[in-house]
Amino acid sequence: MVNSSFSYLHENVSYCYQCSKCSAGCPVAEDMDLLPHQIIHSLAIGEDSEALKSHTIWICAGCYTCAVRCPNDINITSVMDDLRKKSITSNLACPKPEVLKFHQTFVKDIQRRGRVHELRLMGEYNLKLGKPFNNVELAPKMFLKGRLKILPPKAIKGFKTWSKKLWNPKN
Ligand code: SF4
Ligand code: SF4
Repeated sequence: MVNSSFSYLHENVSYCYQCSKCSAGCPVAEDMDLLPHQIIHSLAIGEDSEALKSHTIWICAGCYTCAVRCPNDINITSVMDDLRKKSITSNLACPKPEVLKFHQTFVKDIQRRGRVHELRLMGEYNLKLGKPFNNVELAPKMFLKGRLKILPPKAIKGFKTWSKKLWNPKN
């Protein structure tokens, strides 16, 4: 049983009047078990656990299309972020473990310098999956297009100080 009283980054889901504009514009809606407007509805009526156990929160690509389309300015993308966080901190079983592994690898990498080092990200993700050669056939094309760099990018200026405040707010 999941405690249903948590905030969604100040998003007031009760403003939703179920117009479905968010779902109509979502590029990955057809792979979701609950559509974005259904997620918001679950939260609005206090059925948080429905949203938390859905595949949808792990399928969401974070593209912000829904948030831009919402006539009530509900930031549905942030709601999805918060639901993922809550799912992890509540130790709920993730229905898409490979997505969770990617999410964890991505966050770990971005915490290093504020920018992603794609080569390391892909390597670490593949190791987590136990498939070291997963998608390796894409690497030559990505190198040629300059999308895969051997050396990591420079850290964002002031990133260490800024990230300490963000991830350790007591400091
Ligand atoms: S677009 Fe906004 S108001 Fe419409 S269903 Fe989605 S969240 Fe609700
Ligand atoms: S942010 Fe997520 S839910 Fe919203 S439109 Fe993009 S993929 Fe769909």
